Amino acid sequence: MSVDAWVRCRCYEDGKTSAPPVPVTVDADGVLRPQAGDDVDQEVIDELEERVDQWLATACEHRGAAISVYLGTNAEWIEFLRQIESQRGRYPVLERELLTLGHVTTAPAAAGEALTEMKRLGVEMPPRWAEVAVDVERLFSSSVRERTPVLWSW
Ligand SMILES: [Zn+2]
Repeated sequence: MSVDAWVRCRCYEDGKTSAPPVPVTVDADGVLRPQAGDDVDQEVIDELEERVDQWLATACEHRGAAISVYLGTNAEWIEFLRQIESQRGRYPVLERELLTLGHVTTAPAAAGEALTEMKRLGVEMPPRWAEVAVDVERLFSSSVRERTPVLWSW
């Protein structure tokens, strides 16, 4: 098991991608999705999402349309989260964004707030987890710069 998190580049919004194979839209969270009506089957949506993912792999100069990617092992990630969890209340934004079960996107505005807390956390973090912290900080920075969300999966 690993942790996967990435920030999409802004090439789609800036008109710098090839044409998508199906109509796409950017949802309220900043996630690029196929445009589909409410009456469309999940199976069809899955297929459209697959086509969008395939397109994104080579749609622009950034591999997978990704500016920043974090791939860690679960062990590192869980230790990192424990650091935040063990000091309940000190990092409210990081708690909300990283410890909420099923939370899969961090919006650019929240990423900006999280960055402020990350800077403080970086100072307090034992060196053993500092590497994870640097990667997470890079994700939040990219999100703020690109104005696209961080997408998490674990
Ligand atoms: Zn790009």
